[in-house]
Order: sequence, then structure tokens, then C-alpha cells
Amino acid sequence: MIFSLFKSKSKKGLPALRLHNTLSGRLEEFVPLGKEIKMYNCGPTVYDYVHIGNLRSYVFADTIRRTLDAWGYTVKQVINITDFGHLVSDADEGDDKMTKGLQREGLDPTMENMRILAERYTKAFLHDIELVGVDTARVEFPRASAYIEEQIALIKTLEQKGYAYRLSDGVYFDTSRFPNYGKLGHRDIAAQKEGARLEQNKEKRNPSDFVLWKSDSKLGWQSPWDLGFPGWHIECTAMIFKLLGKQIDIHTGGIDHVSIHHNNEIAQAEAVTGKKFVRYWMHGEFITVENRRVGKSQGNAILLSSLTDRGMFARALRYWYLTGHYLQPMNFTWEALEGANAALVRLAKVHNEAPDGEPDEKFLQLFYGAVANDLNTPQALALVWENIKNLNKATLAEADKILGLGLAQVKPAQKLQVARDELSEGVRALLDTREAARQKKDFQKADEIRGEIESAGYTLKDTPEGPYITKKG
Ligand code: AMP
Ligand code: ZN
Repeated sequence: MIFSLFKSKSKKGLPALRLHNTLSGRLEEFVPLGKEIKMYNCGPTVYDYVHIGNLRSYVFADTIRRTLDAWGYTVKQVINITDFGHLVSDADEGDDKMTKGLQREGLDPTMENMRILAERYTKAFLHDIELVGVDTARVEFPRASAYIEEQIALIKTLEQKGYAYRLSDGVYFDTSRFPNYGKLGHRDIAAQKEGARLEQNKEKRNPSDFVLWKSDSKLGWQSPWDLGFPGWHIECTAMIFKLLGKQIDIHTGGIDHVSIHHNNEIAQAEAVTGKKFVRYWMHGEFITVENRRVGKSQGNAILLSSLTDRGMFARALRYWYLTGHYLQPMNFTWEALEGANAALVRLAKVHNEAPDGEPDEKFLQLFYGAVANDLNTPQALALVWENIKNLNKATLAEADKILGLGLAQVKPAQKLQVARDELSEGVRALLDTREAARQKKDFQKADEIRGEIESAGYTLKDTPEGPYITKKG
């Protein structure tokens, strides 16, 4: 049995990789389509900062990437940037996010302002994913707005093949013409039909039909139909066809993408090619806070900067993600993050002080065995801790290639918040008086007291969760 487990498909004599495929609902052995592995990860709509829920999706994709690298595969990875919206509410997606972003920043709805908004948050996105350990130089980040021609061409093909029809407000995909529509995640089409009475667009032939081209009276791009915007689903399919090909190995996203977005992608792609679009569909579960899904619309979005403002390493967030399996939802608490930060610092210290030597192949086989079992990172981390006394620097560095914790860069000098009961009574009183002044919006007094607290040897930062105090120097 052991031998068959370690039967290798790859170059380096590693255990066979087994991944959970949403399409079959089962663990499957990973068998690449060709020499180069093609992976696409649904990326962000760049209308705001990404939150700790979104970031889990990209760390998950990055863990797959690092695993494939370690297994010796060549990988081409693409993460799209959705940089325009439809400027109207889209029935299958709720309110348009870019429109919300423009409103929030007091920008008029123009193409130029949409570009400015998108550029701002694309930069922030790339910065954040770098901080949690994604090597952005190895990923392609196409902007959807740069592939309008390809999207129009794809819609035209769908029209020619009889899968598309026109309504007053755009072009729609006729899902009844696509056999097995909704097969991913076994979406219940019958239940959806029941709910259809609530639908806004009464003209659609089927409730699950979705927009391919959204007409707009003022903004957008010219097309064979009219001025408007490509639908959200067509952008991913068009960019995949152009950058990766008609059939790809791995496609990922958050669990929320299974029912609509990814079923629509399958319908569009397979209607055109008649071939299986994606070999392995993989989906990451949600991050919750107080057991509610983290999201902008929920008003509970925690950003990476809230962690770093508290003196934690950005990679502590990655460490925390790795303590859960990607198929399990995880509930965020500050205590859990502080624990992850402390564990990361301890692990980095062990790494930095570990003796030199050759990588320990026996340990690494165990470690890779956990990773090969559908990216079981909690088990992989546990193995590291169980064997920590015997691991040299080279072994830890090999493990870190998959974990992505950047152990060599984590310097334990990072300052953490000083607990309230560790502060002197005087400083505690100053903090309270300052808080009271801030509540009364007496910022001059608050600033004076900050000066006194700093003279007592502390640094003070105000965060949305309250004052954050660290020791100076
Ligand atoms: P969006 O910009 O909304 O398309 O989201 C970008 C990525 O983050 C997608 O893969 C989503 O599935 C994922 N995502 C959104 N909210 C959460 C959450 N609370 N937990 C985990 N992933 C999420
Ligand atoms: Zn997508």
C-alpha cells in the first residue's frame, strides 16, 4: 500500500498528488494535460481593498502553485483583474461593484474614472498578495478591459452557434440549449426555477440565463450589438482561451463562485469547443468573523493593514490560513491571529538558528505526503512542529517553499501590543483620559496625552478596534 501511495507521476520521486475536484465531488489523482500546467484563478474586482476572505483565495491558489513547483512541474498561472463593471445592477450578481466604488470615492461614472479607480486598487491588491507571500513576478495579471475584442468575438461565436439571444438590454446565454447546465456542484436548477418569480428581467427565456453583453446608453465599448460592457462571466472564459488555451488543468475560486459564475464559464466554453474546459475545479471555503461570512457588503471586512497596524507580520495571516484545510470554513478572531503570529515568530527563530546540513529526505517525504493529500497544510505544519528538534535549516527551507512563510525574512524583533495589565497604572490612566478626550473629539488634548505616553517609552497607534500600544525601541 505504502508503495502505491508513493508512486510518482512527477520528476522528483514525490507521492502522487491528490486534489479535491468540485466537478466529481471527490479526491482525484492529479494528471496534467500537457507539459506545462495551466492554472487560472478568479481574481478580484478592483473597486476596494481586498479583505482577509479574498486573501484566503489567493493564498490557496498560491499553495497549489508552490506545490506544483515543488513537484517539478512547469506552471503557467493567470489571475484576472476585473477592472470594469456594468454600471447597472446585474441580476445574477447584485449591485455592480465598480459603481459602488465610484460612488464611495465621489467619482462620476465615466470610463476614465473607472480606470483610475481600478488602477488604484489593482496596485493595492498586488501589494497585499505580495505581503502574504505570492511571488507576483511569476503570475500573469490580465486586465479584463484589455481583452474586449476577444470577449466580443466569443459572444459572436456563441450567437452563431445558436446559444445566444438578444433582449432589449443586452445579449443573453440560453442555458436550456446547454446540456447538463449546472453540473458543477450539482446546482439545483429546479429550485432556481421556483425562485424565478422574483427575477427582475421578465423577458429571459430561462431564469438561469445570464448576460453576455450588457447594453448601456452612455458608457462602454462599441460592439456589433450596441454600446455596452461584456458580462462578468465571459471575461474569464475569453482570457483563459487567449492566455492559456481551450482546455486547462486547474481553475480555482472561492466557494461562492461554484453555483453561478463557474457553471456559466463551463457553459460558455464548452458550447464553443465541445470539449471539457477544465480538468480540476478547486474551491476554497469562506472566512467568517463571528460566524458571518467576511465581506464588504456585510460591513465586517478586515484588511491586511489592520493586522500589520497591530504589529503583526502579514505572513501571520498566511500561517493562520495554513492551520485550516482549504475545504473548511475558518472563523477569524484576533486571538487566533496573535497565536499564529507568535507561532510564526517561533518557527522563524528555529529556522534562523538551525544547523546547516543536507535536506532531511525522510522527513520531507512525510511532509510532502501531507501536502499530496489534497494540500493538507494543517497536517504538514503539525509534522514540522512534531519534528522541530531534528530539523536543520535546509529542511525547513524546503518545507517553507510550499508553506510560503518567508521564514528567512521574519525577524523576531517585531513589536506586539503590550497587554493592558502589563502597563503601569499611570500609563493606563493616561490611555483612558485620552480615549475620553477622543470620544469628545477633543483631539488637541488627545495629542498632548499621546506625547506623554510616548515620553513614557511607548508608541501609540489608533486603529478601528481601539488604541494599539507597543514598547519603543
Ligand atoms: P470578489 O472580488 O468578490 O470576486 O472576490 C475575490 C475572491 O475572494 C473570490 O475568489 C471569492 O470567492 C473570494 N471571497 C470573497 N469573500 C470571501 C470570504 N469571506 N472568504 C473566503 N473567500 C472569499
Ligand atoms: Zn472568474
